[in-house]
Amino acid sequence: PGPRARAATTKAGVPGVRHIVAVASGKGGVGKSTTAANLALALARLGHRVGILDADIYGPSLPKLFALADSKPEVEEGRILKPLEAHGLRLMSIGFLVDQEAAMIWRGPMVMSALQQMLREVAWGDLDILVVDMPPGTGDAQLTMAQTVPLSGAVIVSTPQDLALIDARRGVTMFEQVAVPVLGIVENMSYFICPHCGERSDIFGHGGARAEAQRRGVPFLGEIALDMTIRATSDSGSPVVVSAPDGPHAQAYLAIARRI
Ligand code: ADP
Repeated sequence: PGPRARAATTKAGVPGVRHIVAVASGKGGVGKSTTAANLALALARLGHRVGILDADIYGPSLPKLFALADSKPEVEEGRILKPLEAHGLRLMSIGFLVDQEAAMIWRGPMVMSALQQMLREVAWGDLDILVVDMPPGTGDAQLTMAQTVPLSGAVIVSTPQDLALIDARRGVTMFEQVAVPVLGIVENMSYFICPHCGERSDIFGHGGARAEAQRRGVPFLGEIALDMTIRATSDSGSPVVVSAPDGPHAQAYLAIARRI
């Protein structure tokens, strides 16, 4: 087969999975994994059947975010892996499968085959949405993933700083290059409300992601506060959408989930 046919084969859909949505960021540390986890939980609360795949091979976060660090998936017939479950989500991460130090030294082809295995050799079952927590950045590995995973769309996470926004812009460009629709930009760590006096501070500036979204003609999906609760609940394995379901942060994630 020629290159077009090959591309079509590698981009074949995952049986039973209606939509695959990437959560991506131009750089690390902006809260991409936190956002992916809470968005997946918010989508599940809206009644969708949701899975989450941790494609951040060099820094998997799912095991910690869902308190599954010591869990291993069961192997079903024919080497098919059973996804783990938490809070109604089906989950798979390279962190469940191999020692982190081993994965750190993998080269591109190993990373890609691990990703394909997590996509296609896992019994995802029927899902409305599979959320993919992408590795941070816009290099070759990310581009190849964006190209080979049959994505319905991508959500870009950014913090308000100029530098993060420049990287977010690269993220938008990367998905446009491979003809994956950008569903919108989320501004994380958007503002801080002082827990003592209630005053709001825009620690990293504010509104940059909204302006960037407007410039690029992509939707602005919403703002998430910089808040200790978001960090602490993630660290304890029950992200804020499930541990404080009626609080303002859960509501913010739900509003974003309704827009994608
Ligand atoms: P990335 O996936 O972009 O590398 P993470 O989601 O791992 O980023 O987040 C990095 C750190 O910042 C984590 O400790 C996480 O708990 C924390 N964090 C992310 N978003 C927020 C937020 N809105 N408020 C407070 N802490 C946050």
